[in-house]
Amino acid sequence: ATPTAVMVGTGRAAELGILIGNGDALETARRVTTVVLDKTGTITRGRPSLTSVTTVGGWTEDDVLALVAGAETGSEHPVAEAVVAAATARGLRRPALGSFDAVPGHGIDAVVDDRRVLVGNRALMEAHGVDVSALTDAAAGAAAAGQTPMFVAVDGRPAATIAVADTVRPESAEAVAQLQALGVQVWMLTGDNSATARAVAAQVGIQHVLAEVLPADKAAAVRGLQEQGHVVAMAGDGVNDAAALSAADVGIAIGTGADVAIAASDVTLVGGDLRGIVSAIALSRRTVTTMK
Ligand code: ADP
Ligand code: MG
Repeated sequence: ATPTAVMVGTGRAAELGILIGNGDALETARRVTTVVLDKTGTITRGRPSLTSVTTVGGWTEDDVLALVAGAETGSEHPVAEAVVAAATARGLRRPALGSFDAVPGHGIDAVVDDRRVLVGNRALMEAHGVDVSALTDAAAGAAAAGQTPMFVAVDGRPAATIAVADTVRPESAEAVAQLQALGVQVWMLTGDNSATARAVAAQVGIQHVLAEVLPADKAAAVRGLQEQGHVVAMAGDGVNDAAALSAADVGIAIGTGADVAIAASDVTLVGGDLRGIVSAIALSRRTVTTMK
């Protein structure tokens, strides 16, 4: 495309809330064969809320929730906000946080009220030798419904499973269908557990799912697709996604997402509407053909 065509295309995109940072991205978008979507905050709103607490070992819901909320005060993960908000809504006193460690892709390891509190996925529990078999049915039920279950251990013993649910953005399913209609393959890439990921993928019509991918491995997942010949546009919102966004042939950030995700991307969807990806690809195909 001529520089003028690219300017016109970029200007037209901006009117649609699609900010294209460089002209190359508009040209590359034409060749995209595959769109990879982060789940939390990209396909979904990224504002989860607490849906259930199932306890074992004599814990009451409120006691475990207060402890977990105290521990999650140290975390910036969206699930942490959901737990803290739920504890506040129940009027629970949050015990003060002693020490805190985030375990990327797995959860948190904190000391609250002189007790060691672990909150996170099954892998976190396995790494600490916590037997969560009494909680797996409750966790599996939540995951099958597309919710994210987390396990809680206090002083090395299982205490609860808590689940949070995020809502799918209203336009996500339509965006996926439109991309598929353009002949583009759509993949989901997420750190969340596979059952949850598959349930959400089914809700929006995605057939290809890469789940339980650690933050440090998201970029390698994109490169793996590229090595198989896919030309990849990746859309994401999180700090976790930044490396994958820059590894992609076209990186697309959600406008309300983390600054590093926006900085790592070629394109920003101002309102977070994934149909903007469809418009960008369609526009790029038109821009390149009319101006050749
Ligand atoms: P994503 O944001 O893509 O779902 P992450 O890599 O951030 O993935 O997290 C993967 C999983 O680790 C989450 O689904 C959750 O089970 C667990 N996890 C991460 N952070 C926390 C936290 N602060 N509290 C509890 N669990 C967490
Ligand atoms: Mg995300």
